[in-house]
Amino acid sequence: MENVVIFGTGIAGLTAAIYVARAGLSPIVISGQEDGGQLMLTTDVENFPGFPNSIDGQELVANTKKQAERFGARFKTDIAEDFTIINGGFEVHLMTGEKINTKIIIVATGASARWLGISSEEKYKGRGVSTCAACDGAFYKDKEIIVIGGGDSAMEESLFLTKFATKVTVVHRRDEFRASKIMQDKFSKNKKTNVIWNSAVEEILGDGKIVTGVKLRNIKTNKITEFKCDGVFLAIGHVPNTKFLSGKIEMDKLGYLKADKWMHTSVPGIFAAGDVQDTRFRQAITAAGSGCMAGMEAEKYIAHTEDEK
Ligand code: NAP
Repeated sequence: MENVVIFGTGIAGLTAAIYVARAGLSPIVISGQEDGGQLMLTTDVENFPGFPNSIDGQELVANTKKQAERFGARFKTDIAEDFTIINGGFEVHLMTGEKINTKIIIVATGASARWLGISSEEKYKGRGVSTCAACDGAFYKDKEIIVIGGGDSAMEESLFLTKFATKVTVVHRRDEFRASKIMQDKFSKNKKTNVIWNSAVEEILGDGKIVTGVKLRNIKTNKITEFKCDGVFLAIGHVPNTKFLSGKIEMDKLGYLKADKWMHTSVPGIFAAGDVQDTRFRQAITAAGSGCMAGMEAEKYIAHTEDEK
């Protein structure tokens, strides 16, 4: 039987892997659908301690993975689909059909971009509608773009997109941003940015092939207007990747895993780390911190159960 299986290779899962591997427990880390997690879609990470000039998100992930490997973590490209409780631990079921028996599971499956959920968005996904400026921004050289959202991601994505686009307009459903002051300041100082307040995207317009604009509804007046643009970037938050755990581990109504302050979930022997359980901070550093805590608690849990035998 394995000691620890970690679901997810974002910064939380990788940090848990460093701690578990350094404790000599040789974890298996399952990549999941989005290998490397949200940092893979970011450019500069400016607030991770230790990097005074910022660090590229992908580089931070690659370095952390190397660090975990150095201590003996093993990586598997697969997706965890389910688990069952067995004597002394769990049987983990992977998408490829493989099954792994393990004493401990650490769930660090993170969160994925939220979509608006309108049919025109589905129609133009990848043809002008995107959730990742770092991935798709370069396609919009000298084009006009809108970004939907009002948080730090909307500010960050917009600023990144100004490197390519002629103009970036943020459409926000309220009349003030949720984003931090420093990000709002950077955003408003940029000459290519613009805002449309109190507005929701009713429909994404296109010619059948690519996006040509959006239909906006002013939330206060209900007035409908059309806005011409070549690209629509969504930055409206994330949803936790926990669907496959529904009914098995306790979660809140939004699907975030419930963990106590030591990262224990409702199932003894299963720990949670990172955005999958974080409804408040959702920072790279807090994800890494909770990964550390889950890893250390996993080690203690194993030592404690072995002592009891
Ligand atoms: P967020 O803070 O949850 O903001 C989501 C934004 O999208 C909100 O402004 C929200 O509007 C809007 N929204 C949500 N659902 C919507 C819908 N259906 N239609 C239209 N608008 C909708 O998410 P985030 O910006 O991705 O940030 C997540 C976390 O990561 C935060 O803790 C943030 O500080 C952090 N982050 C930090 C940085 C940085 O420091 N550089 C960069 C990126 C992210 P309302 O405001 O009206 O609710």
